Amino acid sequence: MASTEEKVSIENNVVIRKEEIEKNLLYVRQCIEAITQRQKEVRLVAVSKYKPASDIRFAYEFGQRHFGENYVQELSEKSKMLPLDIQWHFIGTLQSNKCKMLAEIPNLWAVETIDSKKKAELMNKACVSRDDKLKIFLQVNTSGEESKSGIQPNECLGLLNYIQDNCNKLELRGLMTIGAPNRNHFNEGQPNPDFIAKEFRKERGIELELSMGMSDDFEEALKLGATNVRIGSTIFGARPGIVTYTISPYQQRAFAGAIKHGVFNVFRRTISQAPYVGVPITLGYLIYYDRKKRHDFLASKAGKEELLKYTG
Ligand SMILES: *Cc1c(COP(=O)(O)O)cnc(C)c1O
Repeated sequence: MASTEEKVSIENNVVIRKEEIEKNLLYVRQCIEAITQRQKEVRLVAVSKYKPASDIRFAYEFGQRHFGENYVQELSEKSKMLPLDIQWHFIGTLQSNKCKMLAEIPNLWAVETIDSKKKAELMNKACVSRDDKLKIFLQVNTSGEESKSGIQPNECLGLLNYIQDNCNKLELRGLMTIGAPNRNHFNEGQPNPDFIAKEFRKERGIELELSMGMSDDFEEALKLGATNVRIGSTIFGARPGIVTYTISPYQQRAFAGAIKHGVFNVFRRTISQAPYVGVPITLGYLIYYDRKKRHDFLASKAGKEELLKYTG
């Protein structure tokens, strides 16, 4: 049982965290308003990956409804614990085998990371059981080499037309970019998202939004016409530097051995203890370790003996 003192301190921490999130949200909203002068609606998506459901609830109580998540499993778990009028955005890399789980989240508002015909088709198929159409954004690679995800700008119009003509469960909502919105950074001779959106409107009469801008560049993105900004760390604080490994049973034993020898300061925990849920799921292990200590361990006599035990 927690002592009264401990309880008071936990309650204090809760209050502090709530106020912190409110203050940050207010700050971001004010920055957005200062730039748009309320001339147009801009959607603020609060990016909550790795953050606990309690953080999301604080933002929710402060009026925030749009939240962004990067991992399907994490999003699915959180959506079950939080109010149904939250509007979830999936903004992570979309894997083919996760489309179905994603489509089953009733209050999934949009998938922002469609970047190929194949993913559009898979997502479209996964949505047959949904009543409404799923809003999607086409992710465009505007920074060339910096990030490999995203369709090349010159392939965009083709894919937009394809989706419009063939994917009846998807509603094209806009274009999404990660990284430098600065036009100078665009691939030489490649059309920028603004231009693509204009062309598409001309061809099909459909107005596309621009989802661009994160904590470091949302103000610049707004000046360049963003209608949807995705902001995480400015609202919820820095994310933990988590390394996620899926490790084999052999590796698990080797790590267990290392921990037993006291070389690791307990850096291992299963995802079931991950900070954002509390619901047991086993995807793999989150291992926090000190590279140098691990190296020393593996190079040591004890380490070699431990390894031998498992390699036979
Ligand atoms: C994490 C993430 C964000 C938020 O990033 P911050 O820099 O923390 O604001 C926005 N968009 C995508 C695609 C992300 O993965």
